[in-house]
Amino acid sequence: MNLLNVTQKFATEDAAWDYLVRTRWPEGVRCLACDHDKCYQIATRGKTNKPIRLFECGECKLHFSATTGTLFHDSHLPLTKWFMAMALMAEAKKGVSALQVSRHIGVAYKTAWHLCHRIRKAMEELNSEPLGGQGKVIEIDETFLGGKKLGKGVKAAKDAKIRVLGIAERNGRVHLQRIKDGKAGALRVIFESKIDPTTKAVVTDGAPVFASIFNPAKHHAFKHEEDFAERGELTAKTVEGAFSLFKRGVIGSYHHLSEDHVDSYLQEFCWRFNRRKLQPFMFQTLLRELTQKKPLTYKKLTRETF
Ligand SMILES: [Zn+2]
Repeated sequence: MNLLNVTQKFATEDAAWDYLVRTRWPEGVRCLACDHDKCYQIATRGKTNKPIRLFECGECKLHFSATTGTLFHDSHLPLTKWFMAMALMAEAKKGVSALQVSRHIGVAYKTAWHLCHRIRKAMEELNSEPLGGQGKVIEIDETFLGGKKLGKGVKAAKDAKIRVLGIAERNGRVHLQRIKDGKAGALRVIFESKIDPTTKAVVTDGAPVFASIFNPAKHHAFKHEEDFAERGELTAKTVEGAFSLFKRGVIGSYHHLSEDHVDSYLQEFCWRFNRRKLQPFMFQTLLRELTQKKPLTYKKLTRETF
């Protein structure tokens, strides 16, 4: 579903709420405290006469809403606006900034900023399956973002930038993450958790650190300066393609990438990239993840970063 479908299908708050309830509890509403399956919808009104949709548990009498304990928790924003922002973020190949979201859905920048961070939280892939496996090729590369320090030499400039490691399954999923330095110890830990040990081959740019980590029989090196055609099988085009798409997004949408939030932007990018072949279902997938992850308050977001 793209933005247009979402806006049409969920034109009213009621339509959006019904869909949220069905997504959170596909087999019927269950009590959040005692898991009882007899829960009744009760209609009540808030201070401004705004309807509040609550459930009451038939057993323990708990009152709860479909958004209680999810990433939607305590949001005063209409669900129709949430859904529009989610469609924008699930759809935008190169990412979308909080400013763009604020303009599209008609809310203040600060509201859009918090909204985008909560949606991004739903996109974190904490326990994803390792990449690679039998018969598969893994590509590894590094790139640097931002922080130009002129006149201090290439090495100083590189040190000042944000260093990003990319691991990709050829023509498949990617994992991008920020790393402090390119030392073997830290890299080894990442590779152990992210790469399936039965992987057929690993392709890197041949830096000595990679040669020291991988079994020489499985490790192949390419040269950055050679064309893809010359490299043949020794290509790293999946990981390089992901890097360039991410960078175009940073330049086109975010302009300035806050260093504090680089990790969550990388996660957002990977979430979308890894589902690029599942485009029609991305909105539904994202909604499910928003209902399954714990709340993220504005206070928590800003406390962690400032
Ligand atoms: Zn109950």
